[in-house]
Amino acid sequence: MKVAFITSEVVPYSKTGGLADVVGALPAALAELGVEVSVFSPYYGSVRKYPTERLPHLVSVPMGFRSEWGAIRRGGHFYFIEHDVFYNRGGLYGDGGGDYKDNLFRYVFLMRAALEYLAQTGAAPDILHAHDWQAGLVPLYAKTLYAGAFPNAKSVFTIHNLAYQGRFWKEFLPATGLGWNHFTFLDLEMHDQINFLKGGLVHADAITTVSPTYAHEIQHPVHGWGLDGVLRDRRSHLHGILNGVDYKEWNPAADPHLAAKYSSKSMGGKAACKAALQKRCGLPERPEAPILSIVGRLAEQKGVDLFVHGADGLLQHDVQVVILGTGERWLEDAARSLAWRYPGKVSTHIAFDNAFAHQIIAGSDLLMVPSKYEPCGLTQLYALRYGTVPVVRTTGGLVDTVEHGVTGFRFDHYRPDSMQWAVGEALGVYRDSERWAKMQQAGMARDFSWDASARKYEQLYRSLTKA
Ligand code: ADP
Repeated sequence: MKVAFITSEVVPYSKTGGLADVVGALPAALAELGVEVSVFSPYYGSVRKYPTERLPHLVSVPMGFRSEWGAIRRGGHFYFIEHDVFYNRGGLYGDGGGDYKDNLFRYVFLMRAALEYLAQTGAAPDILHAHDWQAGLVPLYAKTLYAGAFPNAKSVFTIHNLAYQGRFWKEFLPATGLGWNHFTFLDLEMHDQINFLKGGLVHADAITTVSPTYAHEIQHPVHGWGLDGVLRDRRSHLHGILNGVDYKEWNPAADPHLAAKYSSKSMGGKAACKAALQKRCGLPERPEAPILSIVGRLAEQKGVDLFVHGADGLLQHDVQVVILGTGERWLEDAARSLAWRYPGKVSTHIAFDNAFAHQIIAGSDLLMVPSKYEPCGLTQLYALRYGTVPVVRTTGGLVDTVEHGVTGFRFDHYRPDSMQWAVGEALGVYRDSERWAKMQQAGMARDFSWDASARKYEQLYRSLTKA
């Protein structure tokens, strides 16, 4: 069984969020099951530091009035689409000034260059697996422009986040190579714009999303971002498959980023990680003061506004707070201002720093994930493995992964008092070291490895290719 992933980011080469972790780790788990995955993504500036070889193939993609040419690079099962003007930039999707204005062209090029390469080399995969809006047109391309090249290929489209849809001015449609017959309500059109993600939902042979709860939620107007109707129409083809964790990267017993290693059987090293974190953050090195942390994109989705609103209440307790993230300017400012207002108690870091993320998750006592919505969420899974107790909002994948009172704490309402209540409850348990240790152990024992989820993807692929 051969599968081609088409994705806009992949660990370790490029990353803004969980999508990169997932497409980085899933192929190895699928390989164990006899599924051969090749991964196609852009040759961004960040990929240059890795060794890759340029293949002798050039691909050309017609885009309206012009054609764009690109090269293909390879490193193991990763294939990179090289086009410097499109991809060799400071950011992946945009920079401080917002999204890049030519994102439609950049991601049409990614999709079509990958398909062109597969067509040219005669390496027709059994499954084309497209991830998020940046690959949303792949299922439609497979049925139209590339139907001749891949007559038997089936398509799978995975929603990692329904809110990001790839919406573009309709006059750009010719650049996609698709005809105006596709610009209808039952196809790519939404609110008189082209919607890439909708294209994936309408045309894929199967749709997946990254947790069972999110698969239900997105069929409801509250979480459907205008596409709940389309998802309800296609619900018999929609599957919620929980993301896994790459425990080779996220394992406190073998994590090279940590000041000391530890495991569920020998927790001593966690105290050293906490002391090292306090030192790095300029916080008083007090082992008894619980550290609450946030690691992630500073976006409204993540509940950063809720956290900041509720922080004054939380900081009445004897706690320390560490925040690591980048994102929307107003939330970055809000997170910074918290550190100014509470020197010695709050430490804010506006940066994207993987090693530091590991150190914070290991060194903290509580990890806050107060998301407004959360397709799956990975940081709470990392926290569980690191003996750091997650406090999460009852939404999406957080429901499927955190058990209230057993492995962590949940609160329902998107309100500061609701969050404060949950943290209060957590701090009550923290003060009872026996109960706390039991909760840490329960979390560390949970297995969110890829094995079970990879099997579900494999079964899905097989069900499609047999049909
Ligand atoms: P999302 O994909 O919505 O951003 P996830 O929880 O699924 O959220 O995945 C986020 C991933 O990105 C995690 O691996 C997290 O550690 C990482 N991450 C997010 N922000 C940062 C940051 N500022 N520095 C380091 N890693 C980060």
